[in-house]
Amino acid sequence: MSDLYARHKAVLPDWLALYYADPLEITHGEGRHVWDADGKKYLDFFGGILTTMTAHALPEVTKAVSEQAGRIIHTSTLYLDRPMVELAERIAQLSGIPDARVFFTTSGTEANDTALLLATTYRQSNQILAMRNSYHGRSFSAVGITGNKGWSPTSLSPLQTLYVHGGVRTRGPYAELSDAEFIAACVADLKDLLGHVRAPAALIAEPIQGVGGFTAPPDGLYAAFREVLQERGILWIADEVQTGWGRTGDHFWGWQAHGQSGPPDMLTFAKGIGNGMSIGGVVARAEVMNCLDSNSISTFGGSPVTMAAGNANLTHLLEHDLQGNARRVGGMLIERLRAISAQLPGVREIRGRGLMIGIELVKPGTDEADPDAAAAVLEAAREEGLLIGKGGGHNTSVLRIAPPLSLTVAEAEEGATILERALRLIP
Ligand code: PMP
Repeated sequence: MSDLYARHKAVLPDWLALYYADPLEITHGEGRHVWDADGKKYLDFFGGILTTMTAHALPEVTKAVSEQAGRIIHTSTLYLDRPMVELAERIAQLSGIPDARVFFTTSGTEANDTALLLATTYRQSNQILAMRNSYHGRSFSAVGITGNKGWSPTSLSPLQTLYVHGGVRTRGPYAELSDAEFIAACVADLKDLLGHVRAPAALIAEPIQGVGGFTAPPDGLYAAFREVLQERGILWIADEVQTGWGRTGDHFWGWQAHGQSGPPDMLTFAKGIGNGMSIGGVVARAEVMNCLDSNSISTFGGSPVTMAAGNANLTHLLEHDLQGNARRVGGMLIERLRAISAQLPGVREIRGRGLMIGIELVKPGTDEADPDAAAAVLEAAREEGLLIGKGGGHNTSVLRIAPPLSLTVAEAEEGATILERALRLIP
């Protein structure tokens, strides 16, 4: 055990999850690569769980942060904050939500917490509809609505949560249905659920489940849900913490794959926008955002340094069409991984969209999830200089690939070759 790991264990919580038997200390990065404390270089296919959106040490972001830090790092959001207004204007415009207002936080958890506060206040109801297998963060209210109970340590909650079918369709009675039949079955389930409850405040859902293993429902599911919700005045909150900013290639936001009945009432964002600086936030229709009748600020949400990073990062993303890059390189990578896995009985499915790709592992010849194989592939890939993630329901048997959006074709090829070797090691 390294000295740092021993010190970590002595002072930090047991439940602070760490990857790898011998946990990694990363000291610096550049582009799509990072280096550990021993100087070993890794191709980064997880981008710090999607926080490095464009590239490590992107010069424009470093420059914007250091220039802003040289002037002032932070005073108070009780004063006007030019970089915050500028980023809010850009996100409001990009969100697709009419008459949008933006509130900045410092994390995705706090963004979802704020969305729940708004929805429950606006609707005067503490009932929330959420998806099975979902993940929304680690505050008291966010763990309460999180459907993936492996990440939800308490049954106590300020909210009453009802779980809806639809986020996952890879197993169970819904697995064999066509897209249209699946949507119809999930809508029937939602309507049935609504027959048993008073007046829920909102449905919150990740357009593609992140921690849940990169599982996507058929396009249009949330549009069909939205019609049912709208008839009853129930709000729809899209948790875009993983799916936002062009990650899925085809769309800038995940909700756009379900946009037939219009944008959501609220969307929450975090992770990639700051390229590693802690920015989260909520975008909501003005009527919903302004339903609170007492003051609120976030002391650090919207701080000038993080906003400078966000503005520079967003400019780079848009000017270099990294959404298009995610579509092209991600599409190629998915095809390559599908070709590789065709001969591997332990790979059940390669799925995903853009640069959000999941590899689901099973015990060969069965349909049983294989978390040990996922852990083994993670270790083997690390040995060969590739960082990936894992996730998926209660058993973490899905490998997760979500590199910085500037990934090149050559890097995608290199990572796929390492993954192939690592996957072949599964007994
Ligand atoms: N929502 C989703 C969909 C997430 O994936 C996460 C983080 N994994 C969160 C919310 C919470 O974000 P944070 O860790 O920044 O609080």
